[in-house]
Amino acid sequence: MASPDLDERFARTLHHRNASLAAGDPLAPPIVPASAYWLPGDPAGEYQYGRWTNPTWTALEGALAELEDAGVVTLPSGMAAIAAVFYATLRQGDRVLLPSDGYYTTRALAEKFLAPLGVQFETCPTAEVERAPLDGYRLVWLETPSNPGLDVADIAAVALRAHAAGALVVVDNTTMTPLGQRPLELGADLVVSADTKAVAGHSDVLLGHVAARDTGLIAQIRDWRRYAGCIPGPFEAWLVHRGLETLELRFDRMCSNAEALAARLAEHPNVRRVVYPGLAAHPAHSLARRQMRRFGALIGLTLADRHAAERFIGGCRFVRPATSFGGLHTSAERRARWGDAVPEGFVRLSVGCEPREALWADIKTALDRL
Ligand SMILES: *Cc1c(COP(=O)(O)O)cnc(C)c1O
Repeated sequence: MASPDLDERFARTLHHRNASLAAGDPLAPPIVPASAYWLPGDPAGEYQYGRWTNPTWTALEGALAELEDAGVVTLPSGMAAIAAVFYATLRQGDRVLLPSDGYYTTRALAEKFLAPLGVQFETCPTAEVERAPLDGYRLVWLETPSNPGLDVADIAAVALRAHAAGALVVVDNTTMTPLGQRPLELGADLVVSADTKAVAGHSDVLLGHVAARDTGLIAQIRDWRRYAGCIPGPFEAWLVHRGLETLELRFDRMCSNAEALAARLAEHPNVRRVVYPGLAAHPAHSLARRQMRRFGALIGLTLADRHAAERFIGGCRFVRPATSFGGLHTSAERRARWGDAVPEGFVRLSVGCEPREALWADIKTALDRL
């Protein structure tokens, strides 16, 4: 799956700062912890007050904008990016279609805080949204592959129908990153990403971003941040900038590891079921091949029961027991512990950057012992 266009784009992302540098400037962006800037006379210049603009955000947003090929606004977490899209685009009386099998907190935010303001939410499983009627919605929200079920929806087909019906299409692209899937190129209007996961990649920071090509939409999101005060810290922005610079290396290793592991896991006698969009047995494999640049780093793995799943996770030396995913260390968790509609023995495996054969040997040993 070579992508010369995306290779060029990531190289430009890495060298984004060059054009603004003069002799003696630091190569890495400075962390600027300013609440206020020197501002005599009439207000002028890009930096006037810390809630409005910050040079460390500018460095990160410039790099992300290059990668997304779109306008980008960073926010202090993935949920803050999702909230920004809701609050900046929705009015009383609007209807929204959310995935019933997507990130739980997105639905919880909608029900707890937006439904009481008169926004109506309906849900649809990711695998069925292609056939769902889309008339009358203001927003159609996609998360593909869904998490943890890893069902796939056709972004281009949904965007075509949603636009004909007058709706905006939002894609939560957290699991794939802009390197694994390009929703804006497939017709989506807005992308949200929890950069907490693979983009930052080191399990040490929360941050999110919104990307859009429509300048009016991105200005509305930027205004939301400025008025709501929901702003990232400069140190957090710097950490994510640093993480982003190795995203291409890490994501390539993670996806290659996951592709190899998924095939081997599917053959293991102690594994009941493996779900991975890169396996030919996945119900939407051909759509995944067309739509995704890589198949991602998440694998759904069903073992005999709860006990087997816990023994497996506890029996690995190179798999961290943790929620969240996308980090450079492989991690796993039994999703039924959060109430997801999955079997008790279902494990979500987030494949990391460990050398492949060492990781497989460790996982195989834990599976053999079940
Ligand atoms: C983690 C996650 C979020 C929320 O991100 P936070 O940084 O934890 O707020 C949103 N969507 C998806 C798909 C996620 O995995």
